Parts: sequence; structure tokens; C-alpha cells
Amino acid sequence: MKILDDVARFVARLASEAVCDGCIAQKRSLADVALASQASHELAGSHGFERFKGVCSMCDEGGMMIRRH
Ligand SMILES: [Zn+2]
Repeated sequence: MKILDDVARFVARLASEAVCDGCIAQKRSLADVALASQASHELAGSHGFERFKGVCSMCDEGGMMIRRH
């Protein structure tokens, strides 16, 4: 899936910085935050991606984040 690949590359580029679904949607020009959330859920648990509760490195909002180790 193209969105999934795009989000995966975006998160991977941030090294271990956490990013929220809202920032993923905004930075990748996704039509809906739900698309970012879905991609984030699918990535979590594979290839070093993890979803966790934290603070976003881009907007400083708290909530569910994703990052890659
Ligand atoms: Zn954010």
C-alpha cells in the first residue's frame, strides 16, 4: 500500500523521534488523520516501529505516537 510505505519512510527518517498521527497526515498531505492512524497501527510492531503514549517531536502535543528505533 502506497500510504503505508510513505508513512514508513517518513517515520524512519525521523530516527527515534516520536510523531503523532496529526503531524504524519499534515506532513505527508494525507486527506484524513484516520489514514495516518491506520498506517501507524499497521506499522507498529514490525521493522522496529512502535506505537506508544508520548509527546510529539513536531507539535509537542501529547497522545499516541509512533517512532522507529
Ligand atoms: Zn504532532
